[in-house]
Amino acid sequence: MQTVYNTYTLEKERFTPIEEGKVRFYLCGPTVYNYIHIGNARSSAAFDTIRKYLEWRGYSVDFVSNFTDLGDKVIAQGEKEGLSEEEVADKYADAFLADVAALNIAPATTRPRATQYMEEMVAFVEKLMAQGQAYEVNGDVYFRTDQFKNYAVLSHQNMAELKKNAAGRLDNEDQEEKENDTDFALWKKEERPDVTSWPSPWGPGRPGWHLECSVMIDSLLGDTIDIHAGGIDLAFPHHTNELAQSESYHDERFVNYWLHNGFVNVNDEKMSKSLGNFVTIHDLLADDNIDPQGLRYFLSKTHYRRPVAYSRERLDQAQQEVDKIYRTMRALAKAAGPAGELDSTTGAQLQLLDERFMAAMDDDFNVENALTVVFEGLTLANRTLQEKKNQKTFALLREKLVTWLHIFGLDDFEEKRSLSKKAQAILEERAAARKEKDFEKSDELRDQLKEMGILVKDGRDGQSIEWM
Ligand SMILES: [Zn+2]
Repeated sequence: MQTVYNTYTLEKERFTPIEEGKVRFYLCGPTVYNYIHIGNARSSAAFDTIRKYLEWRGYSVDFVSNFTDLGDKVIAQGEKEGLSEEEVADKYADAFLADVAALNIAPATTRPRATQYMEEMVAFVEKLMAQGQAYEVNGDVYFRTDQFKNYAVLSHQNMAELKKNAAGRLDNEDQEEKENDTDFALWKKEERPDVTSWPSPWGPGRPGWHLECSVMIDSLLGDTIDIHAGGIDLAFPHHTNELAQSESYHDERFVNYWLHNGFVNVNDEKMSKSLGNFVTIHDLLADDNIDPQGLRYFLSKTHYRRPVAYSRERLDQAQQEVDKIYRTMRALAKAAGPAGELDSTTGAQLQLLDERFMAAMDDDFNVENALTVVFEGLTLANRTLQEKKNQKTFALLREKLVTWLHIFGLDDFEEKRSLSKKAQAILEERAAARKEKDFEKSDELRDQLKEMGILVKDGRDGQSIEWM
């Protein structure tokens, strides 16, 4: 039985999609105003792994994830860089797509942009107003939270507590015009002449952030979807507000399973602007000593609900596991072929591993247990290679490992890191030293490379390298 943990009920539930064989999946995407940090990438990587497992399980997954391409952050970044809002959104949407592609995160089935859905958003708000669930004050429109029976249910908060906290938010200048402190904006008036606004029956303005996701889900996936995912920090208020407005709009269930991923800590501290420990994927990928697939593997190897503890040391440790995977997969690729008869013992062992892999992933995507199985599969492969079994047996081992590794974003088993200029120079110096038979110097340079994590081997064709 396949189970997923639902934030709505705080329980692992049996996974049954609305339509047999199909999963309607929505992941809240980024606001495109800056390079994404490792926390954003973790969310993308974790849900890509879940999506790929569902595909491995035979589901066709309709995976929709948006770009928020408007709002205060986009406007402020435009002022900083001397760009229009659209230019900012284009620049960082492209950067996001390049980053996630480097991490072998599959493209979304549909990647809508909020600004493409303005008419639908206005119509959505009009209907809520007609139903008495929203009200206008001076060009702003608010959702009437008191009209919705289960407002705080997703975040498991107490309504009285929530009201007290909302009342305490003194920084919000619009607080006074609301009927209730917990009411939230569906539409905000925009009167600044140099800022983009859209027409509406309440005057020019912009949609609230929560409204975007509700409307894009309604337009692209339907009234009720199977999985709605995002970081745990989105459960309140973002997903709470999406749920309230969508269920008021349709008067039926919005989402069957709410999945939320945990945070990323950097060097055992919470990542925050004030601590100055923001790690962007853009910067990590610019480092020649970082293998993008190794980074992807690092982000996927922790269960999606648990926090990921990032440090360069832990990333390097994960890389050692990836290097082991590369070595075995390259050896298997070399040895695999059509000849011979499948070794039945190996076949049976592989079958058992496959069943255990599925049982682990069926248990709310328990990647830790699934990776234990993957490494047992690699050990089996290495043992089989030593025993010099036939090509067909190697081909089967390889085929199975390829399908498992794909779920963790590992698709290409060639070395992905390139040598830094410094390492390149040392290698050249060493080649020259060997030519002059200065073995003392050559050994010294070999040790230097070793300290950089590079293993040099001398063969008939000269030096070859391997990452440690
Ligand atoms: Zn959202």
